[in-house]
Amino acid sequence: KKSSAYEPLNENGAIALAKKLQLFEENSQLTCNEIGDGNLNLVFKVKNIESGESIIIKQALPYAKVVGESWPLTLDRSRIETNALLKQAEFVPQYVPRVFYSDEALAITIMEDLSHLQIARAALIEGNDLPLLSQHIGEFLAKTLFYTSDYGLNQHYKKTLVKQFINPDLCKITEDLVFTDPFFNHNTNDYEQELQQDVEKIWEDQTLKLETAKLKQLFLTKAEALVHGDLHTGSIFADENETKVIDPEFAYFGPIGFDVGQVFANLLFNVLARNPEHQGVIYNHIETTWDVFVTEFSNAWNKDALEIFAKVDGYLEHVLTEIFEEAVGFAGCEIIRRTIGLAHVADLDTIEPFERRIATKQVALSLGSELIKNRKSITSPQQFKEYVKQTA
Ligand code: ADP
Ligand code: MG
Ligand code: MG
Ligand code: MG
Repeated sequence: KKSSAYEPLNENGAIALAKKLQLFEENSQLTCNEIGDGNLNLVFKVKNIESGESIIIKQALPYAKVVGESWPLTLDRSRIETNALLKQAEFVPQYVPRVFYSDEALAITIMEDLSHLQIARAALIEGNDLPLLSQHIGEFLAKTLFYTSDYGLNQHYKKTLVKQFINPDLCKITEDLVFTDPFFNHNTNDYEQELQQDVEKIWEDQTLKLETAKLKQLFLTKAEALVHGDLHTGSIFADENETKVIDPEFAYFGPIGFDVGQVFANLLFNVLARNPEHQGVIYNHIETTWDVFVTEFSNAWNKDALEIFAKVDGYLEHVLTEIFEEAVGFAGCEIIRRTIGLAHVADLDTIEPFERRIATKQVALSLGSELIKNRKSITSPQQFKEYVKQTA
């Protein structure tokens, strides 16, 4: 729905809006807190004091909160986020928050409160292993990506969808922060001086830069499916039973391997941060993510693939091989950028003592480089283990 003019909400404004929209029973006593820990948006939790019922109002700001008003950012990402959540809910309603209301002009999405769950990154850092995480994420990836791709969608309809998810501002952030800046001496980079030599090795590695440029070109051009676009473990709420994927404001039609690769990379950060005896369970998550992805994607293909693809022997295998190869490369890019780029991950940044943190980041940088350069010869998630050992 369109309302009048945009203005950023504050806590009282969020309560007033919830009342106006009659999201709670009349005369309820409401409280509100801004709980956003993200970099870009406001997140208000509005709660009925007596019943405990609550909702989330997420509002985009016209600039990136992390940088300030000097970095303007389109409000249109709120429309993208709402529409991506609704699209994903067509295939996997169990893995996304319910959307109750949205307003393009106010740049808000009002959704289910998931506070009973924990952000997966925080859970995994605490050593809570989230037993169903990879089962659920594998299925989320397979279904959202297959059913928004040319393999599973009428070609004409797919093009109308592509148009609804044109997302140049948010894509530009990824193009710069994931695929460009970390590979050059750019002022957005952020790393400890102890890593200077390792970072310069990356900047001087022409093969690495060539392979990264190829991956960037895929990100720019391969409109394969509606990808989430920011599928790190901070975009996943979970507990031992449930998994919910939030924050799809970077959604656009891109390579399937991009989402898969971000999941791999963010699980690998957690592996690197753990003591060896606790790494196995996360390696298993990586393998299960891929195994479930392959199974569910293949099931969807066998049931619903368009004839133009379904009739071609070997085409499914070709697609899966390419997705995996690209995912390995994209994982490498994500590993490097989260280590030395603008936006870091707590898995690495909270490692103590400092010497171990630096040593782990050095391993991360070699691992990322190897994944990018050797992605064609890495054909199964079991090989991640060898590469971590080899680079450690
Ligand atoms: P950003 O785009 O700014 O990163 P997110 O959508 O990731 O915003 O949300 C930032 C934080 O707000 C999350 O890490 C979480 O703590 C909280 N949050 C977001 N959505 C919900 C929700 N549906 N239920 C409960 N908390 C939420
Ligand atoms: Mg977020
Ligand atoms: Mg967050
Ligand atoms: Mg976000």
